[in-house]
Amino acid sequence: MGTQAGWNFENTYCRLPDIFFAEQPPEQAVSPEIVVLNERLAGELGLDPGALTAEILSGTELPEGASPIAQAYAGHQFGHFTMLGDGRALLLGEQMTPSGMRVDIGLKGSGRTAFSRGGDGRAALGPMLREYIISEAMHALGIPTSRSLSVTLTGHDVIRETVLPGAVLVRTTGSYVRVGTFQYAAALQKEENLKALADYAIERHYPQAAEVDNPYEQLLQRVIERQAALIAKWQLVGFVHGVMNTDNMTISGETIDYGPCAFLDTYDPATVFSSIDVNGRYKFGNQPGIASWNLARFAETLLPLLAEDKETAIRIAEDQLARFGGLFEHEWLSGMRAKLGLLDEQSDDESLVKELLLLMKEAKADFTNTFRSLTDDRTGVPEWFQNETFQKWRRRWETRRSQQSATDEASRLVMQRSNPSVIPRNHRVEEAIAAAEEGDMELVRLLNEVLAAPYSYSDKHRAYTAPADPEVPYRTYCGT
Ligand code: AMP
Ligand code: MG
Repeated sequence: MGTQAGWNFENTYCRLPDIFFAEQPPEQAVSPEIVVLNERLAGELGLDPGALTAEILSGTELPEGASPIAQAYAGHQFGHFTMLGDGRALLLGEQMTPSGMRVDIGLKGSGRTAFSRGGDGRAALGPMLREYIISEAMHALGIPTSRSLSVTLTGHDVIRETVLPGAVLVRTTGSYVRVGTFQYAAALQKEENLKALADYAIERHYPQAAEVDNPYEQLLQRVIERQAALIAKWQLVGFVHGVMNTDNMTISGETIDYGPCAFLDTYDPATVFSSIDVNGRYKFGNQPGIASWNLARFAETLLPLLAEDKETAIRIAEDQLARFGGLFEHEWLSGMRAKLGLLDEQSDDESLVKELLLLMKEAKADFTNTFRSLTDDRTGVPEWFQNETFQKWRRRWETRRSQQSATDEASRLVMQRSNPSVIPRNHRVEEAIAAAEEGDMELVRLLNEVLAAPYSYSDKHRAYTAPADPEVPYRTYCGT
């Protein structure tokens, strides 16, 4: 039974072999002060927002039933294998929600752990607000993601290039089991650890897999399917994750780790925001290929479980991995059809979509606003829509639309539900964070409100749809 505040923790992760985590109490805040609290999410978790004090949300006091641990994991960072672990995050426990979900509740920025290496374990207010805004926007866009419950100032100084105010983010997710967690288990070369983790992941995320002949093959298959669907969703809204290291890829298929991520303004598959991604490994157009690479690393870890004989295991893994491309393309094209209001399928739809993307790239078109204007032109259309090449494409699209049995209204509704009219535009996010750093939370509040209903096409959106000045390149930073 839960407590009066609604805490209803279980701590099943702590039943894994103890090499998977290190117990670690959070650092005490000096003068905790809540900056933003997601009351709606608190409600979904079964928590009484009134009981969520700054002490609890900063990790200064522990909620009843919490068992704080830093999770151990490894990962390929920009292609290089490293042993890692939560260096500034802690898992408090798994909240059992009123709707019967099991949700990890964790702190980020809560101090050093056994895995902090040279880091201070802390986080600054700006990046934690950024994670809050963007993760909640992703949720509102309908994309599986970790969510943000609160950001709380700690009163600690965080030393970066300048001295910044320290803050703790409380985040939730289906679980933080990562591809990197499997890599960690595999690197220790003890099959019982790997098996314990795989059985845990199956029980927690893919319980039906336990029923089939080869549960581990089924686990691999399901993770590949979820990731293909997730990455397609990213590509359909122009989300650039920015740091798709294997430790930042979940087994549950949720987006995690909002570091250097950002949304496209101008459509260009070569877009990179992260300052450290100098070779463009994680550029927008590379995300499906990188996901596939990461899943190959996942499959490798599972080889000892897939079959007794190594050749058979490799064949099983290869057969599953080979499905990723087709699954991704299918999800992506279905999503693109919806963005263009196409409710049935024709064989040259892909060429219709690709032609539009090509024109968008040539015109340096804003990704979100192009689809927004195709959906609803009451607020005007981009100038490049006057180009002869676009007009020609438009006629082709209109002919295609008229060939379906769906009504225009049904088609338009599908477009509205598939094309957000607002996204967290980088300059808007920065502006809101800058005000928050001066103690004014109004812009963050307004931004969150608008981003919570991205498909409503409300009049309130207008002020949030203008792209930033394309002459000013946007840069994001890791580990800030
Ligand atoms: P990320 O790039 O955010 O996925 O982080 C990579 C690794 O660096 C993870 O193990 C983090 O926990 C760790 N890390 C990032 N920032 C800090 C910090 N300020 N103190 C300690 N560890 C950190
Ligand atoms: Mg990470």
